[in-house]
Amino acid sequence: KRPRESQADAGRAAKRSRDTELVAGHYNARPEVGLKKRVESPIIGLKSFNNWIKSVLIAKFAVPAMRQHEPPLPQGRNANGGNAGRPPRVPMAGKVLDMGCGKGGDLQKWSKANTKEYIGVDIADMSVRQAHDRWQTMRGGSRFDAEFAALDCYNYSLTTKLHHRLGTPFDVVSMQFCMHYAFESIGKVRMMLENVSKYLRPGGIFIGTVPNADLLLGRLRSLAPDAEPLEFGNSVYNIRFDSRDESAVYGQRYWFYLQDAVEDVPEYVVHWPAFEELARQYGLHRVYKEEFQEIYRQENGHPEYGPLLEKMRVVDAEGASSMDNDQWEAANIYIGFAFQKR
Ligand code: SAM
Repeated sequence: KRPRESQADAGRAAKRSRDTELVAGHYNARPEVGLKKRVESPIIGLKSFNNWIKSVLIAKFAVPAMRQHEPPLPQGRNANGGNAGRPPRVPMAGKVLDMGCGKGGDLQKWSKANTKEYIGVDIADMSVRQAHDRWQTMRGGSRFDAEFAALDCYNYSLTTKLHHRLGTPFDVVSMQFCMHYAFESIGKVRMMLENVSKYLRPGGIFIGTVPNADLLLGRLRSLAPDAEPLEFGNSVYNIRFDSRDESAVYGQRYWFYLQDAVEDVPEYVVHWPAFEELARQYGLHRVYKEEFQEIYRQENGHPEYGPLLEKMRVVDAEGASSMDNDQWEAANIYIGFAFQKR
């Protein structure tokens, strides 16, 4: 039976902030353009790089967490059912929650990771519909069990729409380029963390990507004393702070523009030490946090992730980057992280 919406939930809905409306409206208004148009984007190099970073995080942290659930193979048999001539096929395993899944840009990545069950949730209902369509048109062999729901995950519990999927816990929760929208208030961050942690199994992994507060605040502090507006950026991105006041841990707002992706949307600084402290209260312990450029430096020679750079068109056959300097600078606004539930 579906639980009725509580009074607290209803109160939160009434209080849904203007910024939340702006964020949901913005992402709903950006249509899915299809593969052909996607590769024509002026920042295709940066988009490919971001996809490579997400693939690395999935391979490094999510896949091992999902593999722990594989049943051991009987002695002398491989996963093809004993056909010793063929390389073993990895069986599907693992349950993933993609919070802020958007238009399903990571569905192929989760398919390649042999995910068995995938739940995608996002506040933007149009995006959720597009993600669902994308899943339906994925090639049959690689399609996993999936469900999609439109939900404001920073104001509502997952049980509101997905209680029937929460009987078995998740092995992985992923939040890509979306967690920072929760940092408008501590209440939202708490709801978000409850949704991440409550249905994640002990030993399970929480991965994500957010803007780097140290970098943003460093740039803000280095603006000239009379700078107005309080902005910095280049031809690819622009960040404009409301004020220089850094006293608020939650609700420190700036406006973000990214060419061909984000049109001046309100975002919030993720003050990292406070976030780590709060996450610990939900049993989530950090195991990884790295700037994107550093992830590239550490992983570009890796036997599995290195060759992916060319396959995902981050570099060409000669190894030349498909990003110009402005895109490379924009790429390093972000950090990748992983937490483990203990
Ligand atoms: N994760 C996807 C990806 O990497 O391609 C989409 C990233 S997009 C930059 C940010 C997403 O966060 C948008 O789809 C937006 O609708 C979603 N989002 C923002 N606030 C949310 C909320 N309160 N609950 C759920 N999703 C939210």
